[in-house]
Amino acid sequence: MSNVKGGAVVTGAARGIGRELALGLLQDGFGVVIADVNPEVGGATVDELAKEFGGNILFAKADVTKRSEVADAIAACRKAFGGINVMINNAGFNKPEPFLKASEDIWRAIMDVNALGVLIGTQEAAKAMIEDGTKGKIINTASIAGRSGFPDFAPYSASKAAVISLTQAGARALAVNGITVNAFGPGVVDTPLWEKLDADLLEMGASSAPGEAMAGLADAILLGRVAKPADVVGTVRFLWSPQSDYMTGQVVLIDGGMVLQ
Ligand code: NAD
Repeated sequence: MSNVKGGAVVTGAARGIGRELALGLLQDGFGVVIADVNPEVGGATVDELAKEFGGNILFAKADVTKRSEVADAIAACRKAFGGINVMINNAGFNKPEPFLKASEDIWRAIMDVNALGVLIGTQEAAKAMIEDGTKGKIINTASIAGRSGFPDFAPYSASKAAVISLTQAGARALAVNGITVNAFGPGVVDTPLWEKLDADLLEMGASSAPGEAMAGLADAILLGRVAKPADVVGTVRFLWSPQSDYMTGQVVLIDGGMVLQ
């Protein structure tokens, strides 16, 4: 077993925000399993991070909608790193459609990954933590869209509101086991998710030039720019650290000042 302070699983960490969180966990001394549906990108990420962190980083192919694959990723973490202390349910995607055309197929696909995936990840991580007697930390990736619905992102907004509800329900269910459940809500983060979203919005006619959709949203950000993945790490680091031990069921927005509440 490698010499680590604990084990962590991050779903959807082959790239984007999840990858940056995996890096932060590695820097803090955790052993990390990247659980992602994309083995090509995930494998390349692990190869790159392994240059600095050696055997402290592993890849597990897991679709968060498939319980057995999520359970296997958690089992790999326990085997390699002696347990699971941190679970970050981060995998998610968006597919825009005008509100009146929002379809059943897209609704089901988005709700499956973004909401059911968080329920399954929370359940499987909590079962392992309870079995090991670990007072672990479960952290979910919500979004500003879970606090304020966007017309072209109706299923996505609903799925992120579900993430907030699951965070609250999980916190109430698992406090008795000493497990905390919190969420963070990014605003607009420049990741590959936005490349696809930007192209989809252009095709829909919701923007008229490449990059315009994201740039337009930046105008509504008090701090005057969209985020880089690294901008969310400090707050999430607080959520996985002992500094947040007396905090559960909460959602922290990291959006440069977009949704004020
Ligand atoms: P991304 O598209 O760059 O990365 C998402 C990762 O999730 C990819 O590696 C992908 O392979 C993986 N993934 C997708 N479906 C999966 C599944 N079924 N099982 C396992 N892995 C799967 O996206 P990102 O911007 O890094 O987003 C990460 C999270 O942050 C998502 O939940 C997203 O909704 C949320 N978020 C992003 C933004 C933003 O502006 N980028 C804002 C708010 C919230």
